[in-house]
This record gives sequence, structure tokens and C-alpha cells, in this order.
Amino acid sequence: LDFKKASFKDFEDPAGLDAYQRAVYFNQYLNFLEDEGRLNYRFETSSAGGPEIELNIPALGGVGKYISLVSNDYLGFSQHPLVKKAAIFGIQYLGTGTGASPAIGGHFTFHRELEEKIAAFFQRDAAIIYTTGYTANSSSLMALIGKEDLVVTDMKIHASMFEGCKGKNQKTFRHNDLEHLELILKDAKDRYRTRFVVVDGVYSQDGDLARLNELVNLVHRYDGYVIMDDAHGVGVIGETGRGVIEPNGLYQDVDIITGTFSKTFGHLGGYVVASPELIRFFKFQSRQHLFSVTATPASMGILKAIDLIDEEPEWKDLLWENVNHFTSGLKSIGLDIGNTQSAIIPVKIGDMALTAEVSGKLLRAGVYANPIMYPAVSKKDTRIRMSLMATHTTQQIDRVLNVFNDLARELPIRKGGEV
Ligand code: PMP
Repeated sequence: LDFKKASFKDFEDPAGLDAYQRAVYFNQYLNFLEDEGRLNYRFETSSAGGPEIELNIPALGGVGKYISLVSNDYLGFSQHPLVKKAAIFGIQYLGTGTGASPAIGGHFTFHRELEEKIAAFFQRDAAIIYTTGYTANSSSLMALIGKEDLVVTDMKIHASMFEGCKGKNQKTFRHNDLEHLELILKDAKDRYRTRFVVVDGVYSQDGDLARLNELVNLVHRYDGYVIMDDAHGVGVIGETGRGVIEPNGLYQDVDIITGTFSKTFGHLGGYVVASPELIRFFKFQSRQHLFSVTATPASMGILKAIDLIDEEPEWKDLLWENVNHFTSGLKSIGLDIGNTQSAIIPVKIGDMALTAEVSGKLLRAGVYANPIMYPAVSKKDTRIRMSLMATHTTQQIDRVLNVFNDLARELPIRKGGEV
């Protein structure tokens, strides 16, 4: 295998190797990626997550302070005193664990409250919670899509949704290309029992949005169901932070909304919001819910975080001040930030070696941002992916902009449309 052209997929089941040999071979590939600077950093931090964190990077002299552009804690709620207080109350009152999966004793009052609160947040009647956002997506799709059904996915949806489609009748449409989607739906019209269309609200690598209004109309015209994962939209998009459904008033039109408690809500866990009948179906047919524990009592912090979106809207305003300041700064340097309309901001570089060099230089300048390489994105689309928080200061953002300004002079980084 040519390591230069390989991807993680090539190591899923290489011919002729037993499980141990396969692991050894994969380790060789990881060493190769590490040497090339293409393996995502797994730096360790012992400080609280926030806009500035401590990282231990031996190659850069040990523990140092870095501006963090890697967190999805968009409103800073994982550090909010009232969220922490509610989480601590949960532990003091109920303990640290729930002892069993929900069907056999691990279903507490706060689980029901969390389900009711997240459903009401989207002006809907029912929700189910899962251990993570990943499982909410994969497990609900696994349970939902039957042998005679078709699932059609945008090609840029999150891995967890793709996981739920494995082994199903699945087709993929070009990102946000609704004409392509329509061709597929037309062709599928009388050939499948149910048609599901799966999209993200905010796309996790580019920060661009689904064309939700047109999409919902199209899919419903073809008698299909719309399933949307808005992990990165909630708390960020819309006047009151309800995510991508809000600007178009599509509360009742997206058939199934999924999401996570690990980003804006500052904790961990996932949810699916749908009709009461579907939710009850999931509670007994979705195996990862039936046979796995869900939220621990510390998740009572999430109940407070949901309230804070309405009680303290100033965090979303601060986040957008930061996003607007940062994106206009990057554009005026001449960098290509694609079509982002959220708090996820890519700087597109389009060359693997150069992306590795930029991320190394950012680190040396005290800025922590993730390089996103092939095969996560195509080779021509490698980038530095950043996300902002409400709690970044203007000074910190200006420091990052200064570093990018210097790098853009020094290195042949791809230029954007607007200069
Ligand atoms: N959906 C999207 C769009 C994501 O980006 C992620 C992961 N970051 C998930 C789902 C999974 O969420 P979690 O990490 O909470 O399991």
C-alpha cells in the first residue's frame, strides 16, 4: 500500500492480515502520518476549556499558553457558573451514575425533564436522549430505515449519520445541490416504501448552512422525510438560537431534528426530536438507547444551559461580534474562508504540506487550530478549521489575525475572492 495515497479506510479490512497484524500495519501508517505532520494533534491540557488554554507540547518546550480555536463550546456554557452549579447539584442530589440503562431502572426524573425541555426548545412534543450526539444520529437512523426504504444523504453530513446508513439503500447527493437531490428522488419515486433525506443544519467542516427552506419543500413534494442534524447550529443560528430551523420558521417542517449536548450546551449527550409516535418507537427499537445508559446526574447542568439561551441572549450576541470581527479580518488579509455562515471558520489552503506548515507555525505563535487533511476533506480542500466562542476577547482575535497576516505574507497561502 502506498502510504502517501492511503486513508484510514484502507486499514479497515486489508486482505491477508489477522487482527493483530492489521493493528501493527496501521500503527506504521500512523507513524508515517505523524512524521508528515498530518496526524491531528492530540495535545493534552489540564486547564479549563476556554478561549485560552494550557497545552503540553514537548517539542515546543513543554507547557505553554495557547489561544484555543478548537472548541465547540460556542457560548462558553461549559464554564458558566450557573451551569456548573446545576451539574454539581445533580451529583450531590443523585450521585455520579444512573446505575442502569433507561429501560431497566436508569430512567430518572431529570431524564424526562431533559427530554421535555429539549422538545419544547424546538416547539415540538417529544424527544429522546442518547449517551452522545454520535449515537443519537447513528442509532436513530439504524432503527428507522428499513430494507425497503431509501436514505438520501448530502455528501458532507457528519460521520455519525453515515454510520446509521450503513447496510441500507443509500444514495448521496452533491453538497447542497438540490437539483441533484431531485433527480435522485424522482428516480426513487415508486421504487421504495419510504424516502429519508439526511442533512446537517450547519456543516461541520465548512460552517455553511443547509438550504433548508427549499429542501423541505422539495422532499415533502416527493413524500419524503427530512432528517437534520443541527449540532453546530443550535445556540448560534437564529434570533433566539434555535438553529437553522429558526430563520425560516421551519419548527414543524423538519420531520426529525437531531443534535448534541456537547457543543453549545457545554456537556455531553445527544437528542432526537420528532413526533411522539416516532420517539416512543425509538425508545424500544433503538438499541443504543435500550441497552446503554444515558445522561448522568451531572447532565442537570444541561437543563440550565438550555434556559440560559433565552435568559442570557448576550452570549450569542458576543459570539457573533467575534465571528464578524474574525471573518472580516481574515477576508481583508485575502484568505479564502469559503461560505461560512456560522461560528465554524475554515481557512482553506488546498495543499497538505502547506496546511501542516501553517498549523505548525500557528502553534509556535501560540495559536491552537486544527489542520483538516485528506481524507477528512479532499486533498485540494485541506484547511485550518477554527471555531469561535463568545468568551474570546477582541484582543485574542486580533492576535490570531496578526499571526495570519504574517503567514499570508510569508507563505503561498491560497487567496480568497474578496481582498
Ligand atoms: N453531528 C455533528 C455535525 C458533529 O460535528 C458531531 C461531532 N462533533 C456530532 C454530530 C457528534 O456529536 P458528539 O461529539 O456529541 O457525539
